[in-house]
Amino acid sequence: MPTTVLFSARSERWDQYAPHLTAALDATGLDYRLVTEAAAEEVDYIIYAPNSGLDDFTPYTRCKAVLNLWAGVEDVVQNPTLTQPLARMVDDEGLTQGMVEWVAGHVLRHHLGTDRHVMGQDGVWRTGAPPLATERPVTVLGLGALGKACGQALARLGFPVTGWSRSPKQVDGVEALHGEEGLRDALARARILVLLLPLTAATENLLDARRIARLPEGAVVINPGRGALVDDDALIDALDRGRLAHATLDVFRTEPLPPEHPFWAHPKVTVTPHIASETRPASAARVIAENIRRGEAGEPLLHLVDRALGY
Ligand code: NAP
Repeated sequence: MPTTVLFSARSERWDQYAPHLTAALDATGLDYRLVTEAAAEEVDYIIYAPNSGLDDFTPYTRCKAVLNLWAGVEDVVQNPTLTQPLARMVDDEGLTQGMVEWVAGHVLRHHLGTDRHVMGQDGVWRTGAPPLATERPVTVLGLGALGKACGQALARLGFPVTGWSRSPKQVDGVEALHGEEGLRDALARARILVLLLPLTAATENLLDARRIARLPEGAVVINPGRGALVDDDALIDALDRGRLAHATLDVFRTEPLPPEHPFWAHPKVTVTPHIASETRPASAARVIAENIRRGEAGEPLLHLVDRALGY
């Protein structure tokens, strides 16, 4: 009997993913069928987007794994009906490259003073070259697939980069800290702070008033992680007092960001509409197919989510 792979994502995604998934699954040599509908008890794997509408996994009694198309799993990890192993999207080169480009672009905007020197076409001759990257320490909170790649790219540009994660690690080019004391040091160094943590019970509101107070005067916050990592009121207060210079935010507690939210009109906030990066079908299909190949070969799946930790 062929391995049944159910694609459960918004219908418009099917055309984008189907050719790439077909090519990647063909390359595994498996006898499979890739479908958008199937009797639940016949499904072996679910390729899953949390906004697909599927939220009861109980009928999928034969399902060996749910393969999340997104890097973030906060919308599915606590689902009590999900008893099958859950893998998330890691090592999609397109997703990682997109995040590196977005983070590097926004770090460089603030570092170079782009708004002041390039866009201020107001006839004012503002002298003074920006400092070199070597003089602008950057901290990246989260040293997972994305934080590590961004930290290393920034280090290659010359920024002194400090990273912070839950567990100790070694990352070439990045001074990697961990634990509460590590966070204190990481924040104290951060002229530019990049948030690339997952949203979990332990990281919600991580950047609150107390932690913002540890950042250097005039620091910039860049958040492509998740909106709820930041205490919005504390952030606005710090911007209003001039304690922070700017916040560039790609993610929000409520998305789309409601029109009346103060972030939209705040002169020191840049809003981007959750576009920092996204899963790219061609590269993501290879990650998904490799996990299905592993599952069918009885090998351990890659990128499994730790339900207790929430990521
Ligand atoms: P990941 O590989 O799971 O890495 C998460 C990192 O955060 C790890 O280094 C982990 O530490 C650290 N961490 C988790 N909980 C922590 C805690 N309580 N204290 C300290 N460090 C903690 O995730 P990723 O693939 O790099 O993605 C990061 C996040 O980016 C995603 O969860 C998602 O929310 C966001 N994202 C946003 C977009 C966008 O377009 N805006 C796109 C993709 C992803 P350990 O290394 O010790 O485990």
